[in-house]
Amino acid sequence: MTIQTTDVLVIGAGPAGTVAASIVNKAGYKVRIVEKMKFPRFVIGESLLPRCMEALEEAGFLEAVKEKKFQEKGGAKFVKNGKICDYQFADQFTKGWSWTWQVPRAEFDKTLADTVEKMGVPIDYESTVTAIEFNGSDSLTTVTDKNGNKSQIKARFIIDGSGYGRVIPKLFNMDKPSNLPPRKALFTHTVDLRRALSDEPNRITIVVHQHAVWIWIIPFSNGVTSLGFVGDPSFFANYSGSPEEQLRNLIAAEPYLKERFKDVEFLFEPRVLESWSSTTDRFFGEGFVLTGNVTEFLDPVFSSGVTLATVSSQIAGKLVVEKLNGRQIDWENEYMKTMMQGVDTFRSYVMAWYEGTLDTIFFADDQDAQIKSQICSVLAGYVWDLDNPYVKNHKTGLHRLASMISYRDSLLSNAPKP
Ligand SMILES: Cc1cc2nc3c(=O)[nH]c(=O)nc-3n(C[C@H](O)[C@H](O)[C@H](O)COP(=O)(O)OP(=O)(O)OC[C@H]3O[C@@H](n4cnc5c(N)ncnc54)[C@H](O)[C@@H]3O)c2cc1C
Repeated sequence: MTIQTTDVLVIGAGPAGTVAASIVNKAGYKVRIVEKMKFPRFVIGESLLPRCMEALEEAGFLEAVKEKKFQEKGGAKFVKNGKICDYQFADQFTKGWSWTWQVPRAEFDKTLADTVEKMGVPIDYESTVTAIEFNGSDSLTTVTDKNGNKSQIKARFIIDGSGYGRVIPKLFNMDKPSNLPPRKALFTHTVDLRRALSDEPNRITIVVHQHAVWIWIIPFSNGVTSLGFVGDPSFFANYSGSPEEQLRNLIAAEPYLKERFKDVEFLFEPRVLESWSSTTDRFFGEGFVLTGNVTEFLDPVFSSGVTLATVSSQIAGKLVVEKLNGRQIDWENEYMKTMMQGVDTFRSYVMAWYEGTLDTIFFADDQDAQIKSQICSVLAGYVWDLDNPYVKNHKTGLHRLASMISYRDSLLSNAPKP
């Protein structure tokens, strides 16, 4: 069996893997990526957040992505029963990026992968990591290619960015159930010829369909729009037939969609994803670190996935470089705690969304501009800014605010009419 040697082996060529690989490669270390699929490959997760632009910039990917002319995204728009809640990232509390992109991930991920390859990082496509042995100071990874041929890679350090593959947690029994209930999504890409029927045709929109069931509408710059329903699996049990029939019936049942998406062409048979939330005991170990979805994936609702993937790789990539330079890294405090700060902030928002707490806040009349700008920063992915009270007090702040709004509204509705 052939054995290759590298300083750092990265598993997976998604956004987590390529950002980490680029940062380590820039520091002068030898990096190699092993990727199970052939690119371009489909993956869901098309709405980015402004915070991920900082990670893409540090990885040296921004110019290549700009050239693709993806649809720009300047805010988050929520719709419920005809009422609109509009967050503009330019108004956010935290200093940072005020825009990002809506991207077909096959093309976006291929752009990142091609760019990192041009920087000098080899990518072995259609090669699957099937076993890893950690030997104290280094590791030996077994890779199986599409023809079943096995080879090995000796590495001083491994960055696992294998996303839903969860390579190291699965090989070493580190998986842990998530504390979020299982949810399901049904989605496709549509040829959106009637986009102009919408008041803001190219804007990403989240529609509340009914309590705890929501829809994403993500228009791309190529005329295609990603459309998906998300909710409790029991909600979908009300719709029978093939995935296409189910999605067409769901579209017909939602006033916000039915005209624009009536008889629209689906580019692929609608796909189902279910019970995606997962986590793991720890995000690091002797000789490895986990980044991106392998660490913890919560829920699609606030588009946190790619941002957490790229930011975790931005932080971990730099720590790996320092480790190779000889510094003792306190992974618990310097990496895992930092990441959990961001993950837990999003977790509070995801839970408040499904409970309905955020409906009360998003669709309230006369919203306080300062509070709105602070919540806007969370929606832009700036979940590490502890000067923002809606980050610092994420566990209690939303409930307190929703209670105040409900109390104010009840006083107003009981006030004597003139
Ligand atoms: C329904 C749904 C909607 C979503 N919507 C959004 C959204 O709008 N915005 C957002 O930011 N996120 C969204 N996400 C989350 C998003 O999909 C992920 O967070 C994101 O893709 C994570 O990137 P990653 O690089 O960690 O993993 P991935 O993009 O999954 O990349 C991991 C790579 O590792 C490779 N791999 C796996 N196993 C192996 C192996 N054994 N050997 C070698 N390679 C391997 C895979 O082939 C893959 O290419 C959504 C998720 C779901 C379920």
